[in-house]
Amino acid sequence: TAIIIDRAGRLNELSGDYAGLNVKDAKKNIVEDLRKMSLIKAEKPIGHNVGVHDRCMSPVEFILAEQWFIKILDAKNQFIDAGSQMTWHPEFMKARYDEWINNLKWDWNISRQRFYGVPFPVWYCQECGEVVTASENELPVDPSVNLPRIGKCPKCGGNKFEPETDVMDTWMTSSLTPLINSLWAYEDAESKKLYNTIYPMGLRPQAQEIIRTWLFYTVVKSIYHTGKLPFKDIMISGWGLDKNGKKMSKSLGNFVSPEEITAKYSADALRYWASRANLGQDLRFNEEDVANGRRLSIKIWNAVRFLITNAEPEFNPYENNITELKLSRPDEWILTELENTVKACGNYMESYDYSLCLRTLQDFFYNSYCDNYLEIIKNVFWDESEENTGRKKTLLNVMYFVSLNFIKIFAPFMPFITEELYLTFYKRYEKDESIHLSPWPEFRKELVFTDSVKASEILLNILNASRKLRTNLNLHQNHKIKKILIKALNADYVGIINEISVDIRSAVRAERVAFSDKADFKTADGDIFISLEK
Ligand SMILES: [Zn+2]
Ligand SMILES: [Zn+2]
Repeated sequence: TAIIIDRAGRLNELSGDYAGLNVKDAKKNIVEDLRKMSLIKAEKPIGHNVGVHDRCMSPVEFILAEQWFIKILDAKNQFIDAGSQMTWHPEFMKARYDEWINNLKWDWNISRQRFYGVPFPVWYCQECGEVVTASENELPVDPSVNLPRIGKCPKCGGNKFEPETDVMDTWMTSSLTPLINSLWAYEDAESKKLYNTIYPMGLRPQAQEIIRTWLFYTVVKSIYHTGKLPFKDIMISGWGLDKNGKKMSKSLGNFVSPEEITAKYSADALRYWASRANLGQDLRFNEEDVANGRRLSIKIWNAVRFLITNAEPEFNPYENNITELKLSRPDEWILTELENTVKACGNYMESYDYSLCLRTLQDFFYNSYCDNYLEIIKNVFWDESEENTGRKKTLLNVMYFVSLNFIKIFAPFMPFITEELYLTFYKRYEKDESIHLSPWPEFRKELVFTDSVKASEILLNILNASRKLRTNLNLHQNHKIKKILIKALNADYVGIINEISVDIRSAVRAERVAFSDKADFKTADGDIFISLEK
């Protein structure tokens, strides 16, 4: 085999008159010369596969060159086995790892011919070509700057050396991240302790396109160096794509600038969009989703402001334990909804399904907390009467407890707005320096009141029907009415409605609640009818 192309992509002295030309010009000249010599019989365009550089699409020319490799082919089974010992989220991504290993036909080429990179600690004897490697205590060393300490070639005794000019492939060093972070290379007690504590690591989060590189080579290096897996869990994300499902790139012009988006909608809002991606699935960019993230953060702000504005300076959320409060049915219901959300969100996060966690929490926040609970209880704070003082205190405690829990779960998704609320309000009563240092909410079974779910459903049906009725009757939503009449066809409901009559009165802004067969406006529950008396 004769190699006629040098490393700069130009034809070398073996190519006679074409020497010095780049490949493209040389091809043109060769065709020209053949034409002059009348050696061309026909010319027609053909289609064929050409390997190109993925960035600039230049055709790739191959040259033979000596390279450094790490032996991996004979340990394939060990790496496949390692893949099975780790937990993959999502599970189907493991197939890509297995497929890559099974199809490997080369050992791992770790040398590159580039200007910058981590140098190989290697010299060659000028006399006999012997490879001289640096001893461990010589490291780190740049062989183009320093000579080997050994001084003489161990084979021929020569003392002139050529440095290795190759540098290492980027994966050669990035595959060390768990080892670097756990201070594996250091011998002192402190480092050893850290290594034993955090290695193997819990989680490797990364995108799908580097399973065969970053992930695989990290496994290779970790097993070769430590005999152990680098981590227990793997979480693979998809890509953020443009709105048509294409990869974003500056040259194609379909690139969305994060700076512009965060300036327009906030960093929390952009993060909200990204958090909506299912594990292992690509996510198209949609500005409306970012706008929704901004709406959500404003809603969180306002919901917490409602608590802050109504909390007196002497408010102390820990004066009473939440379980010692005199809770109404709606309070018990919102706590039940909260605890179910805490439990579900915790489970989703344990399996790294962050998008499902966010969706579940968002549903709870918008529907249960803002649209229902706050709507049920808000009128209590308009009512200045003395008898309401105790009730207000309880509500503030419940709102404090519920909102602290949900902003903690929102915190990984909307780190800025939640931290701002935490530092300016909650921290007065909490010991953690930052919401991001505070513990994740714990599920509390004693705050699940299944019995109160039905009562709150009835209350909400009555409240929603009364709103519609007010609109029909041209009654302002805030206008206090004399009486709400209720007819319940289901006998079980009568007791419940009696029990929650105070909450009904406050929620629908009525002076009295009374049962009456005259009630004729059907609620969403076909067994309950209401009427309003101005
Ligand atoms: Zn290129
Ligand atoms: Zn030698």
